[in-house]
Formats: sequence, structure tokens, C-alpha cells
Amino acid sequence: MPTLTAIRRVASAALDLLLPRRCVGCGREGAFLCDRCIAETPRAADTTGVGLQLVLAPFEMKGAAQKAVHRLKYNGVRGLAAPMGAAMAQHLQRHGVSPDVIVPVPLHRSRQRERGYNQAELLAREVGRWLEAPVDAGLLARTESAGPQARSASREERQANVEGAFKAQREAIGKSIVIVDDVTTTGATLQACAATLRQAGARRTWGLTFAREI
Ligand SMILES: [Zn+2]
Repeated sequence: MPTLTAIRRVASAALDLLLPRRCVGCGREGAFLCDRCIAETPRAADTTGVGLQLVLAPFEMKGAAQKAVHRLKYNGVRGLAAPMGAAMAQHLQRHGVSPDVIVPVPLHRSRQRERGYNQAELLAREVGRWLEAPVDAGLLARTESAGPQARSASREERQANVEGAFKAQREAIGKSIVIVDDVTTTGATLQACAATLRQAGARRTWGLTFAREI
């Protein structure tokens, strides 16, 4: 007996195929995120973080970029992962980063069951496809059910929330790793992932997200 979630997932995947592609930014048909909206979205500045070479994000969390992040995460528009992942991969290439492996920030298991997918993993797979680099969605796992990162939480609260929230499932000795998420705010999640991967032996770690919330 298929579960309701499974039925919903299949129905939503079928809808993805049937509905015309409409840009989340301007509504025009043809693509989930059109080139014009991508060109008009403000570019974000790259930053650094503890244990990270760089935190790279092509866009600010505004306009079409913000809509794209929300639709991918909450409305199940999985087709958005392709243009979003392409923009992320190109951004990474502009910085000359060529990782050994790409690792998505894992969702807590209960949340992934509820949503049916991990948006960070969808993006990581697209980035991997572009760069022809392997994706390892099982290298990191969540250790506990940390609450959602409320926007009101202070930097310190966010840091405390995610410290110890991840564990490495195997060693990553000597590896250069790009950690992928959809959006970053304080960078606390990416830093917690980087710390875990470094403990597992990773040599260099970068953060890569589609958007940066300021
Ligand atoms: Zn558009």
C-alpha cells in the first residue's frame, strides 16, 4: 500500500512533466528560471567562514533568486534545481574550484520524509553533473532534530543550534569537498558541516549555495 507521501511525490513529479515551464521570476513560459531574471538578480559577495576556504553564492536572496529558493523548497518545483545548480556550478568554475566530491547539507530524516526530497541534494546533483564530479549524499548525516533556523535567531543561537548537528558516515582523508545548500545566512550550518568533514580528514572545504541572505 503506497503511503500518502509516496502518492503525492509521484503526482508532483508527473505535474512537473505536464505543466508548462514558467519562470518563477517573471512568469513567462519556457524555463523555470529565465536568463533575463538570472541576469537581473543582484549578485552576492563571496565570504569566508571558519574551516571554509570560501563561502560562494552567486545571488543575493532577492527577487527571482528568493522565489526560486522558496519554490524549490516548499512548493516541490524540482525542475528548478537544473537552472539553479547550473548557476552554482558556473560560479564555482569562475573561482577555479574543482572538488574531489560534492556533499549536500543533509536534511533531518523526518523532514526529508515529509518533503520527499532534500533540496540541497537536488542542487548538489546538478552541480555534480555540470562539473562531472561525484556527489556523496551519504557522507554527512544529521545527528539530531535541530529546529528550523528561525530568522529571528541570533548568530550565536544559530551557531549553538548546529554545532554537533552533523556526523561523518565515513572518512574523507585528503579530500577537497564542496558543501552544497540552497541558501546561507550566517554560514553556521556550512561551518558545522565543514568542521565535521575536517574531523573526518578532509583537506579543504568550500561552501556553495544558490543565494545568500543578508
Ligand atoms: Zn524570468
